[in-house]
Amino acid sequence: MKKFFFHLSCGIALQLTAQNNFDQAEIRQQIYAEETKEILFTLASDEMKGRDTKSGGYYKAADFVAAYFKRNNIQAFYPAYRDSLVTDSLVTYNIVGSIGKYIPGKKTLLIGAHLDHIGVKGTEGDTIFNGANDNATGSTAVMQIAAFLAQHQWEQNILVALFADEEKGLKGAYHLAKRLKEEKVNLAYMVNFEMLGITLTTGTNQVYMTGFKLSNMEKEMNKVSPDFVRFLPQAKELNLFKRSDNYAFYEAFNVPAQTLSTFDFQNYDFYHKAGDEGEKMEVDNMNQIIRTAAYTLAEMLRKDTVIEMYPPTKE
Ligand SMILES: [Zn+2]
Repeated sequence: MKKFFFHLSCGIALQLTAQNNFDQAEIRQQIYAEETKEILFTLASDEMKGRDTKSGGYYKAADFVAAYFKRNNIQAFYPAYRDSLVTDSLVTYNIVGSIGKYIPGKKTLLIGAHLDHIGVKGTEGDTIFNGANDNATGSTAVMQIAAFLAQHQWEQNILVALFADEEKGLKGAYHLAKRLKEEKVNLAYMVNFEMLGITLTTGTNQVYMTGFKLSNMEKEMNKVSPDFVRFLPQAKELNLFKRSDNYAFYEAFNVPAQTLSTFDFQNYDFYHKAGDEGEKMEVDNMNQIIRTAAYTLAEMLRKDTVIEMYPPTKE
């Protein structure tokens, strides 16, 4: 009888793990708005001098991210998390972590955002370009999602990266994409985060995706979190797919690599201006988006969802 019970309860437990969705209550507990705000305001503070290498602020920001990764059990993918490169004679580095132990050859998801911004400019008035929306918000998202994912075990490799020198032409991302390719990382898809601090004009807890019709990523994300991922006509018209770090990984690996964002050209007047500051960010909505993204990615990983490019269309 005892044995029978043991088997019975075991069977139920297995079934529950297979069928139940990821625990949203746990996500709400672990990705909370106070921390979202704390990270965001630290990265966008004047002390970080616009997170550029010339101002020196970038290195402070990178150290801050590396310390957060370490505290949250995210492994260093390269020594001291650094993937170093040189842009305009200045050494800089992407910060790259691994959730759990990286196993060569295994299917890999990459989650990223650029950490750099455009530094200090001019001599009068506000000279520090804090880059709160662009892209302290996306960096915050990657950090919090990484910390959440690091509390669980996954069948796949998960890499998390904060890129250097996006503002100088996706330099950090191109460097890492080339290196990962040379190191034969089995990249399945890449999700990039850009400017999440202002509510999308169409509504709260929504993002748009660049390269919307290039892969089934949008469909699979919306299957998990209905109406989370939208199509933005300007994203297609302006070919935003090619204008952020995701593109470097698409080019190197020819796998789905797409950006999620809420900057829709109508909702924010401070793009690349000194006034792009933390106080203007809508932290609660941003926190909700980070939770939804974390939940969506966790579910896609748990179900081992296949994300693939669509065949090219004739349009
Ligand atoms: Zn940006």
